[in-house]
Amino acid sequence: MISFESKDVLNTKIMDYIIPGEKVAHVQPGNNLEHALLVLTKSGYTAIPVLDEKFKLEGLISSPMITEAILGLERIEFEKLEDMRVEEVMSKDQPHLTVNDHFRKALGLLINHPFLCVTDEEGAFQGILTRRVILKHLNYHVDQLS
Ligand code: AMP
Repeated sequence: MISFESKDVLNTKIMDYIIPGEKVAHVQPGNNLEHALLVLTKSGYTAIPVLDEKFKLEGLISSPMITEAILGLERIEFEKLEDMRVEEVMSKDQPHLTVNDHFRKALGLLINHPFLCVTDEEGAFQGILTRRVILKHLNYHVDQLS
């Protein structure tokens, strides 16, 4: 059984591990789906945050959400990409973290999400915490046990 000598690892604040907001690819709610697909494709990510013009977190958009939105009965209706907006398609109910949260909370949530958005208490976007970063941190501490 894994046992840490102290609970410091789990009590570490997440802010030391986030990818800062200015390095995170994002779109705005009013952007059309064509723009969103372009940003997703160019960045190489399947999902990115949706932020308003004041950098407030509004939701999350992914390539599958876009494909689903333009799927007609018999074909993919690519012409819809230009007319439909990100806000019509994005998910608004994703869990997120706030700046004072600890590693322990993040670990539980990252089981089901490859990354989590981090906001301040007012909802202003600060960055993202990825499953990869948390696993790397955890792996480092597990290595110390042997
Ligand atoms: P990774 O663990 O680096 O593969 O990242 C997991 C997920 O986090 C990616 O698939 C993206 O959805 C998101 N992500 C990671 N880095 C960025 C970034 N710089 N900008 C936007 N989204 C990102």
